Amino acid sequence: MTYEYERVLTPASGLRLHLNENTSGCSPAVIAALQALTRLDLASYPDYDTAIAACAARLRVPADWLLLTNGLDEGIFLAALAALRGSSAATVFEAIVVVPAFDMYAACTDAVGGRVVEIPLGRGFEFPLDAVIAAIGKRTRLIWLTNPNNPTGQIVPRDAIRRISAAASGALVFVDEAYADFCRETLLEDDALDGMPNVVVGRTFAKAYGLAGLRAGALVGRPESLAAMRRAIPPYSLNVCAAAALPAAFGDIAYFDWYVDQVAQSRIMLYDFFERRGVSYWKSAANFVLARFDGQPGRVVAGLAARGVHVRDRSTDPGCAGCLRMTAGVTEHTQALLAALEELL
Ligand SMILES: *Cc1c(COP(=O)(O)O)cnc(C)c1O
Repeated sequence: MTYEYERVLTPASGLRLHLNENTSGCSPAVIAALQALTRLDLASYPDYDTAIAACAARLRVPADWLLLTNGLDEGIFLAALAALRGSSAATVFEAIVVVPAFDMYAACTDAVGGRVVEIPLGRGFEFPLDAVIAAIGKRTRLIWLTNPNNPTGQIVPRDAIRRISAAASGALVFVDEAYADFCRETLLEDDALDGMPNVVVGRTFAKAYGLAGLRAGALVGRPESLAAMRRAIPPYSLNVCAAAALPAAFGDIAYFDWYVDQVAQSRIMLYDFFERRGVSYWKSAANFVLARFDGQPGRVVAGLAARGVHVRDRSTDPGCAGCLRMTAGVTEHTQALLAALEELL
């Protein structure tokens, strides 16, 4: 079995609600920072001191607990590489993935020659703590967790992460917090990481900050836990535009707060609609909602696309028969989605 990242077709036009992007765009302060770059800035290898300091302050972590990456995707790749380095040449290492999950965990594990061990969520997408603990063995080098999860939007209980970290003390526990900005549930607060030395947290500035096109993410953890990844990352992984964008994005907290609030309102608009129309859905802590359109997910995706609205078909994901995932962005965009859905159902 091989695993790959599923590249989705880029729609030529219309409302992009299929990749959990920020539907409003980045802060205007980012555009100003990019416009201030000079010809010589673009001709020079980037320096990251300012970006690291701004990011450490925003995430409230010490600078040496932080590694900026070319999108969180690069952080995921680096974690897989680090697991490979620590494993013995004689045995294939194993990485546990709780599914359904973001494609990159399995894709990167597979790319470096690791074996993917899939553990399914419960029928109602409950976190399968006992099954994860039972799957941890001598060969386990990596455990991929996503909090909140993509595509279900569900929270992984803090205690489950703690128990997995303790049960897998010889492995790296990667907690992907790509969507933590939308629920403010994070391991980066309350000294949560103190008792979990093998946990590394992944963050991205693609989603809430709207910088997906610039590619900027971060890994956060104890310096010892990050060491293998710091060693593997290319020295100029973020380009000069991303490095200039981050302090500007972090400086515009009003814009960030506004967007997070729009997402919260949009989720409620989606829930209300689904309840009225008898569509099953899962309450989400992220900037998307997963809903089940029994027997007709393909028809709904195509019908929405014909009306210029793009959503993601997740119906072939484990446990997700009939399910579509749609981004909750700016409320005006959610209204457009709901108007198109209303016509279709
Ligand atoms: C979008 C996403 C990422 C990737 O973030 P980038 O910074 O754009 O690479 C990582 N993890 C999850 C769960 C995501 O949904």
